[in-house]
Amino acid sequence: MSAVMPTYGRYGLSFERGEGAYLFATDGRRFLDFATGIAVNSLGHCHPHLVKAVQDQAAKLWHTSNLYDIPEQIRLADRLSDATFADSVFFCNSGLEAVEGAVKLARRYQFANGAPERWRFVTCEGSFHGRSLTSIAASKNPKHLEGFGPEADGFDMVAFGNLNELRAAITPETAGILVEPVQGESGIRPADLDYLRSLREVADEFGILLVFDEVQCGAGRTGKFSAHEWAGVTPDVMSMAKGLGGGFPVGAVLATAEAAKGMVPGTHGSTFGGNQLAMSAANAFMDVVMADGFFDRVDAIGRVLWDKTVDVVAKHPGVYKSVRGAGLMIGIICEIPNSDVITRLHDEGMLTVPAGDNVARLLPPMTIEESHVDEAVAMLDRVGQALKPSNG
Ligand SMILES: *Cc1c(COP(=O)(O)O)cnc(C)c1O
Repeated sequence: MSAVMPTYGRYGLSFERGEGAYLFATDGRRFLDFATGIAVNSLGHCHPHLVKAVQDQAAKLWHTSNLYDIPEQIRLADRLSDATFADSVFFCNSGLEAVEGAVKLARRYQFANGAPERWRFVTCEGSFHGRSLTSIAASKNPKHLEGFGPEADGFDMVAFGNLNELRAAITPETAGILVEPVQGESGIRPADLDYLRSLREVADEFGILLVFDEVQCGAGRTGKFSAHEWAGVTPDVMSMAKGLGGGFPVGAVLATAEAAKGMVPGTHGSTFGGNQLAMSAANAFMDVVMADGFFDRVDAIGRVLWDKTVDVVAKHPGVYKSVRGAGLMIGIICEIPNSDVITRLHDEGMLTVPAGDNVARLLPPMTIEESHVDEAVAMLDRVGQALKPSNG
């Protein structure tokens, strides 16, 4: 038995090489990667521009710490600010750190406003915000909380999409609202755009901060840099991670200058956050995605994937039920256990990710072409055929 702590259920697959939308397993098999390490390898594997940027940086300087200025960090913060609503960016290494940073920032904002009693958050059922003690309390998934002592206080959960419940949950102790514009882990559930717009109004009405957790849906996956752009509103704070480093661990807390006003020297920190090596990966990611027309192509290929997935799902009732999602973040709701579909897709040569609500998630690289879509859909078709209940 291996010394790796057994905190994961694993598929018994391992890979030695990646190239674009493909992964090559140690047993020689080739897989179409529509999992991308859970929305992480957002430009596919070994994108030449990212490889070169990281190689060049690795030969120069990896890390100095945030005791010193990091020009690559300043550059990335400016570019993220140009690409979003934000004026101010804090760098960390993961999604949960970005959520934690956003929660701390909102509490400090209220503190700086003379309202330190405002420290609680309203969160939504079905959310996933990470596995820290704070973020498991934010999402309240009983499986994630069990055995870890008293649940951290400060999070009040309401039904996702229910504005009345949300308004009723706001008290004089509320600091902010924390919502994923597209819920990922619970099964790719996009929020109504009207709901996102209303959240903005409610936050303004009560003087609390609106925090969007875009760790999974952000960084271009929906066909715009930030998923909330589809609603035409901006949050006060946004957490990012997963796709931002193209495979390198990079997280970020983005905020307006007003929201970030409590974050003065000494209030927050990270040893590794924003080091040169991480910044080289994320800056290279930005070079690619901010090029003219990139998101138009993501949007276009997302629509092709949507249409063809809807068609193949309709062909196999009893195996697949329906499709939902946004851009290149698509959930197939299964009729049979999603794990059966996912392992059968492995046999065909395709990787997807399970999610809540019996969903198989398609999270392909943003660089896919129509040929990859056709390949994926053909495999979904064969799996639909093979797993037809009448056949078994
Ligand atoms: C994955 C995810 C997180 C946690 O990210 P980690 O890097 O695993 O800590 C937080 N929020 C959302 C929306 C996520 O999808």
